[in-house]
Amino acid sequence: MASSNKQNTDYDLIIVGGGMVGASLACALSKLPLRIAIIEAVPYQDNKQPSYDDRAIALSFGSRRIFDGLGLWPDIAKHTTAINRIHVSDQGRFGFTRLDNKQENVDALGYVITARNLGGALVQQLDQIDNLTLLSPAKLIDLKLGDDHSTAVIEKNGKTETLTAQLIVAADGGNSAVRKLLDIHTTDHDYNQTAIVTNITPEFSHQNIAYERFTKHGPLALLPMENNRCALVWTQSPQEAERILELNDKDFLNELQPCFGQRLGLLLKVGKRVAYPLKLVKAQEQVRNRLALIGNAAHTLHPIAGQGFNLGLRDVATLAQIISDVSVNNNAQQNSDIGELEVLKNYAQWRTRDHRQVIGFTNTLVEIFSNNFPPLAMARNLGLITTDIVPPLKHALSKHSMGISGKLPRLARGLPL
Ligand SMILES: Cc1cc2nc3c(=O)[nH]c(=O)nc-3n(C[C@H](O)[C@H](O)[C@H](O)COP(=O)(O)OP(=O)(O)OC[C@H]3O[C@@H](n4cnc5c(N)ncnc54)[C@H](O)[C@@H]3O)c2cc1C
Repeated sequence: MASSNKQNTDYDLIIVGGGMVGASLACALSKLPLRIAIIEAVPYQDNKQPSYDDRAIALSFGSRRIFDGLGLWPDIAKHTTAINRIHVSDQGRFGFTRLDNKQENVDALGYVITARNLGGALVQQLDQIDNLTLLSPAKLIDLKLGDDHSTAVIEKNGKTETLTAQLIVAADGGNSAVRKLLDIHTTDHDYNQTAIVTNITPEFSHQNIAYERFTKHGPLALLPMENNRCALVWTQSPQEAERILELNDKDFLNELQPCFGQRLGLLLKVGKRVAYPLKLVKAQEQVRNRLALIGNAAHTLHPIAGQGFNLGLRDVATLAQIISDVSVNNNAQQNSDIGELEVLKNYAQWRTRDHRQVIGFTNTLVEIFSNNFPPLAMARNLGLITTDIVPPLKHALSKHSMGISGKLPRLARGLPL
């Protein structure tokens, strides 16, 4: 059953990009009487699917709540490793801070899963949604936003097709085609850093501790994973990253060991290494009439604080709630439409604060922890120590990392949509 459309469109909603964020939105809307399509350029079975690769994603406690509300958590949980403590430290200096799940009264501060496994759980769910049409491989090549509907042109099997919908949701990632086709400008900041991502097997048990360590080359994170492996995200200058990627396994571990220290004993094994150039990209418009941006299409972050997907999932929970409320009103014969600018402005306004805070928090971390100017290094060490000693500060930092601060949509509060 379709919502009470004023227009005869092919779909109520088209999601461009079926990556982690786009697929999560389709799952969130699956129980609503909406005709949904996903346009996804790279098939899910393809090893080169860019959203579902082997990078480790730290899911916040808030993201767990959202997946719980969507009924997806049991499938996701099978592949997760809990983060019970977070240990933040500064190489060669005195500062450190520890966040603890017991102090925060939660089962875990967060959970680590590979994007591939998270994708597996999402795609399995997509297969079960009756009102969803998955167009893949299919690529968006043109888009027009009209007054009462939008028109998307896709390329599929070498042919072009034209599709209409009340609302287009751009979930097509950091290089968003939607943004380019509609000339939506971005605010960009190139950090001039590259993240090297791989798995490490240490000598000692990781004991479900996530390590965030600031080194003279840039921040380094080790996240606990299955089979006592740890996911490494090691940020370097592009030139250093190029050199380090060329090292053999033994030399790589020899360089990593002194940067990380001995907390996990010897670092014994390293897996395949992948490099990601790091850039902040923030769309200057989040909505237009018949359009909303979510996930990396709206904001691509530095992975230092592990917030990018978590922030995108809160976009999903918020937009789903706004769409759900409009659909319920439609059923009660009220005259509203999910693609109207006035409706979408509510989404944009609601998301502004969270976007600003998370981008600000991430940028501050990158800036102060990539700087070896002595007074700044001293200040950040005092900051770490103070945070460790002062419970309200520590609690605030925990809530931020856990994705449960600010005005939260129903799903993020553990309530149904
Ligand atoms: C090294 C690294 C570590 C990270 N760690 C964390 C972490 O610990 N925690 C966290 O929360 N976040 C983390 N992130 C961020 C997280 O990976 C991203 O925020 C998340 O993947 C964004 O998902 P998305 O669906 O918005 O975009 P994407 O994953 O980029 O998906 C976009 C999809 O759109 C499709 N697409 C693109 N163009 C078109 C088109 N024209 N037509 C049709 N389809 C199209 C693509 O094929 C793709 O499937 C990390 C990122 C990196 C790089």
